[in-house]
Amino acid sequence: MEIIFNRIDENSCRFQIGPVNTAFANSFRRAMIGEVPTLAIEDVRIYDNTSALFDEMLAHRIGLIPIRTDLSSYVRREECSCNGEGCPVCRATFTMSVEGPGMVYSRDLIPEDPATTPAYDNIPIVKLTKDQKVVVEAHAILSTGKIHAKWQPTTACGYKNYPLITIGEACDGCGQCVEECPRMVLEVDGARVKVVPGRIEECSLCGLCEKACLGSGIGEEPAINVSFEKKRYIFVVEGDGSLPVKEIIVHGLQFIKDQSEELKEKIGEISGGTGDEKQE
Ligand code: SF4
Ligand code: SF4
Ligand SMILES: [Zn+2]
Repeated sequence: MEIIFNRIDENSCRFQIGPVNTAFANSFRRAMIGEVPTLAIEDVRIYDNTSALFDEMLAHRIGLIPIRTDLSSYVRREECSCNGEGCPVCRATFTMSVEGPGMVYSRDLIPEDPATTPAYDNIPIVKLTKDQKVVVEAHAILSTGKIHAKWQPTTACGYKNYPLITIGEACDGCGQCVEECPRMVLEVDGARVKVVPGRIEECSLCGLCEKACLGSGIGEEPAINVSFEKKRYIFVVEGDGSLPVKEIIVHGLQFIKDQSEELKEKIGEISGGTGDEKQE
């Protein structure tokens, strides 16, 4: 298996992966969305709330704020030596005290651990009028997106098959497919059409170019043919700022590896071998 990055920065990346089958590509996608742990606020103690929002709404909004997560510093509550009571190893504590008039922003959540700041400081929480007040203490814990969306480290995570475009001898360079393509993937080159260098991955496999070619009166078969590579995929992953996107990818792959090894062990236990034996 090979992964080729087209671009990667702190919060988003695009890469090709192959050769893998659809089951693996989808497991990888699901692992990145639902199995990579992040911190999110789970418990909110409200000391004062005279804002227009009910306590529950306020707590819900605070819970959705992405929190920067250092996975080497925190463990899950259920795995902690405090037996889930809450300690600095399994939870991050925040305080917030704001008086109106003005907007309460995510930056008003003050962390006890300076490493666990909100990922963005300008997320609005609630607008206060004169004399309205919000005073809370909040605790963030590690969990995963399969428990609740607030623990998802991704805002977008999807894949598509790698496009393949072939242009047959019948092409006369009329350019109708070029006009129809919404992604500007094609261009006329002399008496033929060709893929614009570097734009093949932009193709959405919509098939409009094939239809345009048929509409040009070329006959029963279009001169352009769009298909895809069955074992190669293009992934786009965007993070919510709680984890660098590189960590999301690494932990997603690690999750699949750990699950596969566990499955292999269980099969080994049942069959009395190591799980590596080939089936006849
Ligand atoms: S399939 Fe759609 S996006 Fe791809 S080249 Fe044809 S028209 Fe453009
Ligand atoms: S519409 Fe068909 S014939 Fe015309 S340029 Fe495109 S592929 Fe060639
Ligand atoms: Zn603990």
